[in-house]
Amino acid sequence: MFKAFLIKYAEIGIKGKNRYLFEDALIRQIQHALKDVDGKFQVTKEQGRVYVEPEGEFDYEDTVDALKRVFGIAEICPVMICQDNGFEALAEDLLRYVDHVYPQKNRTFKMHVRRARKSYPGTSMSLNADLGERILKAYPEMKVDVHHPEILLVVEIRERIYIYSETIPGPGGMPVGTNGKAMLLLSGGIDSPVAGYMIAKRGVQIDAVYFHAPPYTSERAKQKVVDLARLVARYSGPINLHVVNFTDIQLYIYDQCPHDELTIIMRRYMMRIAEEIGKANKCLALITGESIGQVASQTVQSLAATNEVCTMPVFRPVIGFDKQEIIDIAYKINTYETSIEPYEDCCTIFVAKHPVTKPNVQVIRRSEEKLQEKIDDMVKTAVETAEVIRIH
Ligand code: ATP
Ligand code: MG
Repeated sequence: MFKAFLIKYAEIGIKGKNRYLFEDALIRQIQHALKDVDGKFQVTKEQGRVYVEPEGEFDYEDTVDALKRVFGIAEICPVMICQDNGFEALAEDLLRYVDHVYPQKNRTFKMHVRRARKSYPGTSMSLNADLGERILKAYPEMKVDVHHPEILLVVEIRERIYIYSETIPGPGGMPVGTNGKAMLLLSGGIDSPVAGYMIAKRGVQIDAVYFHAPPYTSERAKQKVVDLARLVARYSGPINLHVVNFTDIQLYIYDQCPHDELTIIMRRYMMRIAEEIGKANKCLALITGESIGQVASQTVQSLAATNEVCTMPVFRPVIGFDKQEIIDIAYKINTYETSIEPYEDCCTIFVAKHPVTKPNVQVIRRSEEKLQEKIDDMVKTAVETAEVIRIH
């Protein structure tokens, strides 16, 4: 019955002259998302509308699932497309539609005809009345309610005729690829995958960097991050995950610096390295899962000390969220179960019992001077030896 989907988009509809760029990006992302779905699909645009039309057999559930992950889609409307064979044929198609979608007939409805093709006989008003009457005659249990109908039956008359009434919410946001690229610092935790999702939702393409410290962190911990990147990639599209070996740097900091400053200094080197890899990969910003006050390294003073070493903007989309609010999104995007797997990440091994919570930037800088001899070479090596894993 449903031969197609009408895709409604919200924000990208208001981009003025650049609108076609957004529409084209949306079409590309839809095509990409449908690659793994059984069936062949035509994705087309027509007068501010995007249509997804399967060619032949397709998996309805999988198609809807895939579309629900394409940023830029506000609503997905399963639509019945009919050729224009005159009013009688249209009325019959409409009755078939209603019968199929609403086997329980005791519902209220309202007709909403849009005559986009102005040469079609009649007016929208007369067509509303005539089609409504046919429904009432065929299905006497149905009632008209023009104020609060349970069903809004839309009939759009264009070259072809589109009948729909159901809308499935899309994820909103903007199509990935319309807003540059950023580097996500992705750990195995709950917060950073959510942060990556939120920035990708605004149309930003994502690369990721993960710092591991073998043998202090296991292969399994790394696999967990790969798994998380894959879950984020279901929304963001392909991600290049840069895996940086951070062991030598961490041990060196551990040897040279006061232990209560370890976390801050480590985090400053993570940011520096992420920025360097980011620059080499055309990223314009960094993304972290930091949230004010969540841990010692995320007090405002700590954030300021970490931020100081960055020249790129750092996006922290969950900065004002409580943990539970972050967890709610993690559930929604299906990363939570993976995030809570118990494999340690590198930060938990080298943490001091009593880390500074109000680091003084001058003091931190002075401590970092103790690393002068070797740190530049170590950073260079870490950047050069990073393993790149392409996540689809
Ligand atoms: P998350 O749940 O994202 O791990 P967290 O609450 O554990 O966050 P921290 O460990 O302080 O917080 O990390 C803060 C942010 O720093 C993370 O959200 C992530 O962006 C980045 N980060 C931390 N550890 C790593 C790592 N090993 N590799 C890459 N990024 C990291
Ligand atoms: Mg963490």
